[in-house]
Amino acid sequence: MNAELIAVGSELLLGQIANTNAQFISEQLAQLGINVFYHTVVGDNKERLSSAIKIAESRSDMIIFTGGLGPTKDDLTKETISRELGRKLVVDQEALNSILSFFEKTGRVMTENNRKQALIIEGSTSLPNHHGMAPGMLIEIKNKTYILLPGPPNEMKPMFVNAAVPLLAKVQTNPLHSRVLRFFGIGESALETKLMDLIDTQSNPTIAPLAKESEVTIRLTATHEKKDMAKQLLDDIEEKISLRVGDYLYGYDEQSLPEVVFCLLKKHQKTMAFAESLTGGLASQLMTDIPGASEVFKGSIVSYTNEVKSEVLGVPTQILETYGAVSAECAKYMAKNSQSKCKATIGLSFTGVAGPDKSENKEVGTVFIGLADGQNVYSFPYQFSGTRSRIRLQSAKTGYDLVRR
Ligand code: ATP
Ligand code: MG
Repeated sequence: MNAELIAVGSELLLGQIANTNAQFISEQLAQLGINVFYHTVVGDNKERLSSAIKIAESRSDMIIFTGGLGPTKDDLTKETISRELGRKLVVDQEALNSILSFFEKTGRVMTENNRKQALIIEGSTSLPNHHGMAPGMLIEIKNKTYILLPGPPNEMKPMFVNAAVPLLAKVQTNPLHSRVLRFFGIGESALETKLMDLIDTQSNPTIAPLAKESEVTIRLTATHEKKDMAKQLLDDIEEKISLRVGDYLYGYDEQSLPEVVFCLLKKHQKTMAFAESLTGGLASQLMTDIPGASEVFKGSIVSYTNEVKSEVLGVPTQILETYGAVSAECAKYMAKNSQSKCKATIGLSFTGVAGPDKSENKEVGTVFIGLADGQNVYSFPYQFSGTRSRIRLQSAKTGYDLVRR
């Protein structure tokens, strides 16, 4: 099954808004294993929308429209599609009731335009809109599926996920099962190179790598009518992948690296503290994003200046003068002292040059991460690249990865 998205709205063509609806729907469809082959954007114009529909019908099994379901004159998606399909518009009583009750509750005067919003294409299934007035629609005609969704993302997203996706699962012949493998510490191209032959030859499951926020994920998607058989297909390919790059595999699906570390520490009844310089609290934020973080996270000393490093954290001034703050020696003291001061089992420290300018005559991206476990103290040197925010995020995540290993 392949799909095409048609976003309707002149404001998209004028560059006033970005087509984020297409991004969202594409991502959702990819998760369902439905191929999206085209994105089209067309203005609020009947003739051009009609011709976009004809082109889409000639090449796609499913056409998903967003925008132009509203009450105003320029909202002409519904009317144009109904004409193309040769189907009348009929009143959807449920939608009309909810529009009527909205006007009753707010005491506003309802216009004829608003009544128009309760019209749906004859024969379609109405998709309720819990965040606005215009209902969406799903209609199947001659083996083609047409889905109409409103433009505002806060209306479109819940409608798509809650009302359209369950119907799509029925349209799909073989259900899809997917699993996301999450990697850290290896780049997308290095990972792809190691798996190239598998990626090229695999069709069930498919293997789709994606780089995002200093990490790489691989989505495995298997189709099979039986769930346990699909799981077996996924297990088999995961095993092959693990043999090659399992060292970098830290988690699955929506898990984050800090969540994995959180669970690991909890399991082993360990606790963690940070001393953060270049990350400025980012490592702590990633941990405290997790509900219940206090079970493993003691606290953090954001020792941004040398003064705080020595006076609050207790890094000897001699170390700062001899080696500088961006040094293996300083990282070790920071880790050790955060661990002892916060009474944690593990102390982790971050010191480095986030940029954009050099510091202590050390290159941008020079980072030292210290790790103290109560017995030993280690320091790991890195040379990261990219923007200031990327270097900081890379540093924080690398710290988590060191604890995970
Ligand atoms: P309304 O009832 O609000 O008029 P509608 O279904 O008629 O909804 P449009 O009039 O096309 O939708 O768009 C309304 C608003 O929704 C736009 O001003 C824009 O903010 C947002 N929007 C529309 N299309 C998109 C899109 N493809 N991506 C992101 N936002 C969009
Ligand atoms: Mg509108």
